[in-house]
This record gives sequence, C-alpha cells and structure tokens, in this order.
Amino acid sequence: MRAGQPAAKVLLLEAGPDTPPGKEPADVLDTYATSYYNDAYFWPDLKVHWRRKDNSPPVHFSQGRIMGGGSSVMGMVAYRGTPEDYAEWEAHGAAGWGWSDVLPYYRKLETELDFTGELHGRDGPVPIRRTKPEDWAPLSKAVYAFAQQRQIPFIADMNADFRDGYGAVPMSNWPHKRASAAICYLDAAVRARSNLTIVNGATVTGLVFEGRRVTGVSARIGGKAGEFRAREVILSAGGVHSPVFLMRSGIGPAGHLRELGIEVRADLPGVGENLSNHAIVFVGLFQHRDARQAESVRPHPMTAFRYSSGLPGAPRTDMYINVQCKTSWSPLGFQVANLAPTLLKPMARGRISLLARDAGRPCVEFNFAGHELDLQRFMQGFRRAVEILAHEKVRAMSGLMFPVKFTDRLRRLNRITTANRIQSAVIAAIIDLVPPLAGPIFSTLADRRVDLAAIPWAPAAWAPQATATRSSTRWDACAELAACGSSMPRSCRPCRAAIPISRPSWWRRKSRAKSCPLASADSCRPLS
Ligand SMILES: Cc1cc2nc3c(=O)[nH]c(=O)nc-3n(C[C@H](O)[C@H](O)[C@H](O)COP(=O)(O)OP(=O)(O)OC[C@H]3O[C@@H](n4cnc5c(N)ncnc54)[C@H](O)[C@@H]3O)c2cc1C
Repeated sequence: MRAGQPAAKVLLLEAGPDTPPGKEPADVLDTYATSYYNDAYFWPDLKVHWRRKDNSPPVHFSQGRIMGGGSSVMGMVAYRGTPEDYAEWEAHGAAGWGWSDVLPYYRKLETELDFTGELHGRDGPVPIRRTKPEDWAPLSKAVYAFAQQRQIPFIADMNADFRDGYGAVPMSNWPHKRASAAICYLDAAVRARSNLTIVNGATVTGLVFEGRRVTGVSARIGGKAGEFRAREVILSAGGVHSPVFLMRSGIGPAGHLRELGIEVRADLPGVGENLSNHAIVFVGLFQHRDARQAESVRPHPMTAFRYSSGLPGAPRTDMYINVQCKTSWSPLGFQVANLAPTLLKPMARGRISLLARDAGRPCVEFNFAGHELDLQRFMQGFRRAVEILAHEKVRAMSGLMFPVKFTDRLRRLNRITTANRIQSAVIAAIIDLVPPLAGPIFSTLADRRVDLAAIPWAPAAWAPQATATRSSTRWDACAELAACGSSMPRSCRPCRAAIPISRPSWWRRKSRAKSCPLASADSCRPLS
C-alpha cells in the first residue's frame, strides 16, 4: 500500500462507518456473518434486476458500506481461484495474471492455520482456517456420508487440491474473530503512520479534472462538501459503484453518457459491461431439533461440493453446492439449513447503466438466466441438491424441504432487533411444538412456489458427464435467483477466488484511475 512509502501522503475516504482496532462492533467481529443483518453497514437504496430490466423487477441488493467494504459483512468464505482460472485469464490477454504470477500474492496474504507446504503462506495478515470435521453440524456430516457412498473424493484443502470433490470450506477468520480487509490491513501500526489519513462517513461525489487529467476528488463529509487534490486517485468502490462513479464522471460509453447530458471525458465502451456474479439457488430444509448446528459453533458454511458439470461447452470445476447448516442469526434461522447450487463460471453477462445523470440508483441487470448453458447447469445443480436431500441420512434429519426466495418479509424478520428476536423465537417454538405448521409458515416467509415433494426423488446422475434436460416444473423452482459474491465487471470470465486481499502494486498499475491522460484505456477500466 502507498502508505508504506514514506514519501507518499495517503488519504483513504470511506462512505461507511469505521471499524478501528479494539472498537470493532461485535456483529462485525462475529465469525458467523451477523453484520450481514445490520442495515447500517449497507448502501440503503441499491436495487438490481436479477435478469433484465424488462423481465425482472428491481429488488434489494446488499453491498457493504463500511470500512473493509464487503469483507466486513460477507460470509468469510476464502477460496482461491484455481490454476485453470488464471490460465484462462491469461489466454484472454491478461498478461501477468497466470497462476505462477498470482500464487506469490495468495501466499503473501495468508497465514494458513491448517496446512503447510509450498502453496501456503505462514505469516500473512489474513488467517485461513476451516471448521474441524468433529465440529461439523449434523447436515455436513450427513452429506459427507452421501459423498462417501458416491465415492466423491474428500478435499481437505480446497485451496491447494483443485480436484472436484466434497471439501472443508476455507474461511478468513481466527477462531473467535472475523478477518476483514480493514482488520487485517488497517491495524494499529498502519493507522499510526503519519502519512496516512483515514476519513470515514466520507462519500466521494465526483472526480476533479484539469482538462483530461484527474487531479482529485470531491466528497461530502458530515453534510459538508469538500475537494481533495491528489497526484494519484485510486478508485476502489466495488463492482457496482465503481463503474457508476466512472460514468457519472464522464468516463464510459460516449453515446449513453450523452443521452443523459454527461460531458464525455473518455469514451470507454467497456465501462458497465461484462457484469458477472455467482448466481445461487437456495433449497431450504427444516431440521429436526436434534439435527441442528450447535450454537457454540459459529460459521455456517463448513463443507461444500466443487464439481464440474461436464456439460458441452462448460469449463471444468464450474459448479458449487454450498452446505449451509443454518440460515440466519435468529432462533428460526437455526431450524433451517440450505443447499445452495451456485454457478462458479457463469456464461451470461449483464450490464450496469445510468438512469439519471447525477444521482439515484443505477440500472443493474445481472442477466442471470441469460445463457442456455447457465440454465442447464442450474437444473443439473438443482437435481443434484435434490438427490443429496434424498439420501437417507439427510432425510432422517429433516421433515420439510423447500426452495427459498428472499422475500422482503424474510428480510425484515432477519433484521437484528429485539422485536424480531422475540417474534422469531415464538415462531420457532410453535413449529417445534406443532411440526406440521412448518410447511405453511415457511411458505409464507419464503414464498414457496414449488412443493419439492412433487419432485421425484429418483437419483439424478451425479457422474461428471451427466446432462440435464429442461423440465419446466423443476426449473420453475429456480426461477427466482438470489446472488452473492463479487460482482466483477471484467472482460475475463469470473474465477473462483474469494479472499479479501490488499491488491498488489502490479494490480494497481493495471487498473487505477490516476492522474494520467484518460485516453489510456487501461487506467480507466472499471474496478471490482
Ligand atoms: C452479503 C455478501 C456476502 C459475501 N460473501 C462472500 C464470501 O463469503 N466470500 C468472499 O470471498 N466474498 C464474499 N462476498 C463478496 C466480497 O465481499 C466482494 O467480492 C469484495 O468485498 C469486493 O471488494 P471490493 O473492494 O471490490 O468492493 P467492496 O468490498 O464493495 O468495497 C467498496 C468500498 O467502497 C466504498 N464506496 C463505494 N462508493 C463510495 C463512494 N462514493 N465514496 C466513498 N466510499 C465508497 C464502499 O462503502 C465500500 O466500503 C460477499 C459479498 C456480500 C455483499
């Protein structure tokens, strides 16, 4: 980081609250992502279309607005990309992004607490660890039995052994504390540097130009507008806000900017294009009382399948099924687990555009169902989830399974308030007392559209070369997709990496919006 160079003076502007050492809020520190349920840490009005604007309504979308960004609110799942991901990036022209180029940085960022070997780092700022098999929740153990029966390999270290299989999920935390980018990189020693100033609650509102050069930013701090001059400006506002910010500053597709009356500083048609995210379908299961995760074990994703769909045209290791043994902080959340088929390598691309010149929400279209291969892989993933749920050990622990849609009702109930704690405890107690009520209650909360009981429990082929055919009944269950993960408008396909890192200097060289001539396209590419 530049603050490590004494000659440079660095100003860090963050719109959200700070999490200084020793004063991090308890919900941020929690190794279960409790901070995810605190609206104070998110951009309040961000809405997106899961598909296109003309075929899906705008829905709420969570993006962190807090020091450390998403790393302070996210699930702490810490996967590296695979060597094949980076080979693919290089093949797309991203020189310097091969596996041998990025591996030193993966090593440098981590202190791997469970494994040694040349692929791992021992003294980086980010701890990486896994929940021990003996602490796994009953669901993870039951799914392990399924995997063993199917001779699916167990992958103990998914960050070094890139075979398909069922594995222990690596996480970026210490046993009792989240390891956000802010906690790991903005520690007391870094903050004590005299050349670093950190201002939180500071919303950057625009770039300052001299001709075609960026020479600073304007910002709103505590209701007051101000300007900061800089030799170099690094924009790192996330996959949605960075391109929006660039376009509002006149950097983007000239035609679109002119339509909105924005003065064009640099015509860069790629800004806002190639939007991509990991689409996820959630299949919930109500767990019997004695089959629930122990409250003392905080993380909820402990194990997962990483596998290759084997469908024609699909890359290897393109799919993932997360096994999440609880769904929320609340008593009700402990009753419900889920399996979550996920597209690691989606084909469809979405886009981000502006609806208005100066303010208001942008138009974010993920286009999740926009490619036939994505639909086919989702159907296959959904069938595999159903197949896992049909395994005797999993069925023994659950009386009800249902596709989940994150309704506004569910979102409201998930906010951490005393009223919600009481309401959720009452509902959970009623369900435990009268289990047949679980169906109607979860239908109401999660907008159940399809009764999984209506789906045949016939084993779907789990073999790598399996293909899925389209069946409207089964696909209807997946019609509403929920997404998480990094939204990365890049020209390359998304990879599987998911670790908060401080970007290396060579990364910044490729992607900064600095006070260089804006005609240099590379310096103005949207950042993730
Ligand atoms: C709910 C959720 C769960 C996730 N789970 C995981 C997971 O388990 N594992 C994983 O690896 N990834 C996960 N992710 C994704 C991960 O958090 C992101 O990929 C990552 O944080 C992206 O980093 P970034 O620096 O590009 O952007 P961000 O983390 O979004 O950071 C951007 C920062 O810029 C600030 N900012 C934006 N605009 C302005 C402005 N105008 N003025 C001032 N500041 C501004 C924001 O407030 C924010 O702090 C999850 C994300 C979410 C939202």
